[in-house]
Amino acid sequence: MKIILDFDDTIFNTFRVMQEFRKIFNRLGFTDDEFWSAYQQCKNNINDFNPDIFLDIIGKIRPCDKNKAKEGMQNLTEKFSNYIFSDFFCFLNIAKKEELILLSHGLSDFQKNKIEKSGIIPYFSEVIITSRDKAEDIEEIKNKYNEKLIFIEDKAESIDSVKKRLPEVTTMKIIRPQGRHIERKSELTNYIIQDLFRLEDIINNLRD
Ligand SMILES: [Mg+2]
Repeated sequence: MKIILDFDDTIFNTFRVMQEFRKIFNRLGFTDDEFWSAYQQCKNNINDFNPDIFLDIIGKIRPCDKNKAKEGMQNLTEKFSNYIFSDFFCFLNIAKKEELILLSHGLSDFQKNKIEKSGIIPYFSEVIITSRDKAEDIEEIKNKYNEKLIFIEDKAESIDSVKKRLPEVTTMKIIRPQGRHIERKSELTNYIIQDLFRLEDIINNLRD
């Protein structure tokens, strides 16, 4: 069996990290609205968050001390291991490393850096950062291993796309209280979960 886990808002508290990014820019004189508008613009432009591009965008609202901003963001990046949800470490008791695959969507080097700094790479047998529909990557995983697959993800679109292409994959839509994709409901998911606790029975049943 392979258990495929998403990163942002599934095992990583992206919401809390973004609040910390916001505070860095609050200290540099930007309002919350200015921060979130620059964040949205960054997402619209490159479909991702990247600190350097973000800095260029927010710098156009008002000039700021870019070195101080960079230093603040760098210091925060170094602390990313503090933002892994603690239930992930409990989950490791029921899943073996050789079963675990991290599948994260991201286009910039920042995504790779974020995952590395979070310190979770050693817990996975494979780490995939993709820029395409995750269903394509999961189909490749299926063809490569020919084993039962579980996919745990917060984004309804990704879950439903996987279920349409590969109905045999067991999916779990995770709804973290402050996740960014909680409003969209999955039509096809097998399970809806609040965290990674108490999954032992479901996973062991699938192992049989
Ligand atoms: Mg996610």
